[in-house]
Amino acid sequence: MKIHPAALPQYPNVSVTTVDLPDFNKAGVQLDLLRLDLVHPLISGNKWFKLKYAVEAVLASGCHRVLSFGGAWSNHIHALAFAGYEQGIETIGVIRGERPAQLSQTLIDAAGWGMKLEFVSRAEYRNKNDQQFVARMHDKYGDFHYLPEGGSGEWVVAGCREILSLFNAADYHLICCACGTGGTLAGLIADKPKGVELLGVSALKGGAFLYEDIRGLLAQACVSDPGGWSLALDCHEGGYARVSVELALAMKYFAECSGVRLEPVYSGKAFLALQRKLMRGELLPGTRVMLIHTGGMQGLRGMEGLLNKKLL
Ligand SMILES: *Cc1c(COP(=O)(O)O)cnc(C)c1O
Repeated sequence: MKIHPAALPQYPNVSVTTVDLPDFNKAGVQLDLLRLDLVHPLISGNKWFKLKYAVEAVLASGCHRVLSFGGAWSNHIHALAFAGYEQGIETIGVIRGERPAQLSQTLIDAAGWGMKLEFVSRAEYRNKNDQQFVARMHDKYGDFHYLPEGGSGEWVVAGCREILSLFNAADYHLICCACGTGGTLAGLIADKPKGVELLGVSALKGGAFLYEDIRGLLAQACVSDPGGWSLALDCHEGGYARVSVELALAMKYFAECSGVRLEPVYSGKAFLALQRKLMRGELLPGTRVMLIHTGGMQGLRGMEGLLNKKLL
């Protein structure tokens, strides 16, 4: 495994490694891995870049309180809670589903960093962007900055476009990352060198909404869509946080050959999409591919049991 340091000195831990996978080698396809998972021990992976300018904007404003959203194992909630703790920002996490008897480890961490947890029913969570819901939260918590789910608000493109300056993006034919809200991919699209293709792999079933949401985020950032990007909508393996046997096997194979673990909610599905492309003969000999490890390994704590069951 070759390791190249990342280009930007302010991210000394991020590196690029060339992954030695027999099926990719045999097809003459180079697969590199961008280790965004190493950018910060607790504000992991893409969430560091998603939060960077949002946190700056909050600190520059008169109101040091943020309300945002996520599930019980949300990487965003985890990262936001720590960023808030570190920066002296009050955080409120609106969590999907009723309060369970036993909090997830993610939420135990978040509460430990001072995040206030507001549990809402799944039905209410679906209406979280409604005026009424937001007004109710203001009644309860006072003034706050509203950060959309996953941290994909007005600052996401500015932060995530910096990911492409961590390595020589123009050296690759294809750059691939997983999508939840599409905010990270929108940032990559904004700074994509000409001739490079981007592939976003939806972690959710019914990911077609991503086209519109990504275009919306680009428009909000005043970036005109350069094209050259596409979405894989068929590697969700049953839906968000669902795992197929094929996904569990692909992740195991990747970890055994590279020494690097992926997680099944996002980066595992991104790798699976690349493997399927390879099997369909869509990656020609000589193709150089970059897979972005978007981090979020803390969420794996909630998935180990399911993963092991799939491998039985
Ligand atoms: C949040 C997350 C994503 C999805 O990012 P979006 O910007 O919402 O598309 C991908 N990978 C990991 C590990 C994440 O935690």
